[in-house]
Amino acid sequence: LSAATEVRCSQMPTYACHRRTPLNHHNQTITNALEILARSAFFQESDVRYLGFTRAASTLKALPYKLQSVNQAKDLPWCGGHCMIVIQEILEHGMCREVEVIKNNEHYQTMELLTGIYGVGVRTAQRWFKEGIRNLSDLKTMECKLTAEQVSGLRHCKDLQQQVTLEEAERVGQLVKDTLQRFVPDVHITMTGGFRRGKEVGHDVDFLITHPNENALSGLLEDAVGWLETQGLLLYHHLKKRKPALRSASSSMDSHETCYAIVALPSSSSPWNTDIEVKKCNSEDAERIAHPESPNSLNSRTWKAVRVDLVVTPQAEHAYALLGWTGSKHFERELRRYSLREKKLSLNSHGLYDLEKLSGSLEC
Ligand code: ATP
Ligand code: MN
Ligand code: MN
Repeated sequence: LSAATEVRCSQMPTYACHRRTPLNHHNQTITNALEILARSAFFQESDVRYLGFTRAASTLKALPYKLQSVNQAKDLPWCGGHCMIVIQEILEHGMCREVEVIKNNEHYQTMELLTGIYGVGVRTAQRWFKEGIRNLSDLKTMECKLTAEQVSGLRHCKDLQQQVTLEEAERVGQLVKDTLQRFVPDVHITMTGGFRRGKEVGHDVDFLITHPNENALSGLLEDAVGWLETQGLLLYHHLKKRKPALRSASSSMDSHETCYAIVALPSSSSPWNTDIEVKKCNSEDAERIAHPESPNSLNSRTWKAVRVDLVVTPQAEHAYALLGWTGSKHFERELRRYSLREKKLSLNSHGLYDLEKLSGSLEC
């Protein structure tokens, strides 16, 4: 290591939003292990441990070289205690026993499976685990107790578990653009989320929608949903109305008008279909009969279910929403923590508010 690199590492900023965090970095084995520990803590609803492991992993992702000894990690932010033991074990043995045990643990595996279904959070998955649910067949027996969101999540879980490629995301973008422009020709659409950060795959595709004239946005999502439905391209949607903007960053959820959807993305040139997969999906066969006009009615499968988030913002809030919806989740959390702790400003995806000015109602 050069002296310059050593200096840079000892000066590693403690806030993730002050560091460059590349997708491909030098300490993947260690960060993977720490992220498994973080997920395991998350599944046990232990926020403190979840955050501890997430912060340590985030620090190591920003490290510009591969760790060679545990000594090199001792001055890094968030890498003390439990994390240090994990780092040491991996450096010495190439793996961490605790992580291997977790990966084989029935609770962890079931929670991964259940929270992987759209509409299923940790609380629900915990409850189901306690009720004895261990796999998707167990869940199908209790379909009547599921929310509409979970029924759709379960129905399309094979597709939704597959990552969305950049090429697919771009085709979703074209579909969203074609749909919205039918109603507002000069609507402004930006792809956000992981794809905006340069990722090549994602679990969904996120879009921000705005227009200089707020009236043009009124009813736009309803119109878009209606049109997509007539085309048989909408497999599920939930519209969330705009609420008055929150004046504090207390919640990570924002109040923008949003459509959480599952669309049936038609394949590009060659059919996406594999016959084997179609035969396995009995529930989709049922849907094909229920919606004969949808792409499902085709004999071979020529579409893929893709999760899409559409967020509508007035132009004045667009910059904040763009920042808030670009992610990552940890970056956003750190940005808000920095803003509040160091600048006494409350940041969310509606605006930036000065806490010291009049009950937080003034924008700066
Ligand atoms: P992936 O590629 O797996 O989709 P992602 O970074 O795009 O990863 P998302 O869950 O799609 O993850 O969220 C994108 C960003 O939007 C997150 O960083 C989060 O800060 C923000 N976000 C997501 N859902 C909401 C919500 N309901 N309210 C406010 N912000 C949200
Ligand atoms: Mn996303
Ligand atoms: Mn999303």
